[in-house]
Amino acid sequence: MQNNKPGINTICTHFGELEDTQFKGAVSPLYMSSSYAFDGVDVKRYPRYFNTPNQEALSKKIAALEKCEAVLIFGSGMAAISTALFAFLKAGDHVVLQKTLYGGTYNLVQEEFEKFGIEFSFTDGLQSSDFEKKIRSNTKVLYIETPSNPLLTITDLSAISALAKKHNLVSMIDNTFASPVNQNPADFGIDVIIHSATKYMGGHSDICAGAVASTKEHINRIFQLAKNFGGSLSDYTVWLLERSIKTMGIRVKAQNENAQRMAEYLYNHSDIYKVYYPGLPSHPDHELAKSQMRGFGGMLSFELNTDIDAMDFQRALELIKPSMSLAGVESTMLSPTQTSHSLLSPQEREKQGIKDGLIRFSIGIEEVEDLIKDIEQALEKVK
Ligand SMILES: *Cc1c(COP(=O)(O)O)cnc(C)c1O
Repeated sequence: MQNNKPGINTICTHFGELEDTQFKGAVSPLYMSSSYAFDGVDVKRYPRYFNTPNQEALSKKIAALEKCEAVLIFGSGMAAISTALFAFLKAGDHVVLQKTLYGGTYNLVQEEFEKFGIEFSFTDGLQSSDFEKKIRSNTKVLYIETPSNPLLTITDLSAISALAKKHNLVSMIDNTFASPVNQNPADFGIDVIIHSATKYMGGHSDICAGAVASTKEHINRIFQLAKNFGGSLSDYTVWLLERSIKTMGIRVKAQNENAQRMAEYLYNHSDIYKVYYPGLPSHPDHELAKSQMRGFGGMLSFELNTDIDAMDFQRALELIKPSMSLAGVESTMLSPTQTSHSLLSPQEREKQGIKDGLIRFSIGIEEVEDLIKDIEQALEKVK
């Protein structure tokens, strides 16, 4: 590409695509080979070495989107998260993690780290001083998630990156909720950027994948472990993910707009007790969000007034699907206590501020008026 500063939708559509030299087809050809020549070639290719033609092409696209040198594509977000963390932590090391995290990441740390001799601390708050308090002489990694699941808290990227540099630590972020459309942590000096590509990158609720973006040096370190752990993604799904990302820019911008309208509607609604959305001026970190995000994303959470049962309300919806997962083109809702955070004890949920009546709302690309009508009719039914 001659233009060396292409805009986001151009990167989404074209960056890293493979050329069909044989038939001149419009889209990247799909190379399904799991076996490649070893003699007289520059690169020994194999799916679990993360270097098939389609894997490499998609890595270039995601690297451009996250403004990083290199990317590895994984079979799930958790494969990406676990491999990245274990690549920088060995027995005797310590990691400081943000207190509000994706449930699966919390479970990984709680259930697995002790048996590998890795020490960990969760912060009490989200200020960089809360992280600094937990740093020990053997700390190696700071791990954050912003906006966080499910309460959409915002962590200061510049402050965390400065803290990591001060103590010579590796900073890692789960950037899934923002997507690279709304937030590039590399701009603020965060070292390792992780995605569940199952979410906004896939965008159609039909792909499970993950990605890690960083410098060549860090990616090489993660790769050394990744080839042994074996969490690569099949080429067919890689190809589907490349196709999905072509529309990520326009999908996420539409979701940003719908979510903003929806958050304002819910905020002003007498049956809604509380709304969590970083795009609302009432959000405690609205200014911080504005300073590090280009859009506020398609995720919000809300609490109904206590006289309305959250499950009854979700069952009364007709258009919006009560459904696990998030970030598809279709709008979905769920109760974190029943799903993503069900393995946490009620005390732990309370500590994280996750009430039983909390509903997490993943806003799709439908007409927002139709989503509002659906909420109106559901509230009428259950009140
Ligand atoms: C879904 C999700 C993950 C885990 O990704 P999988 O693809 O399900 O393994 C991690 N972090 C966040 C924020 C998520 O939403």
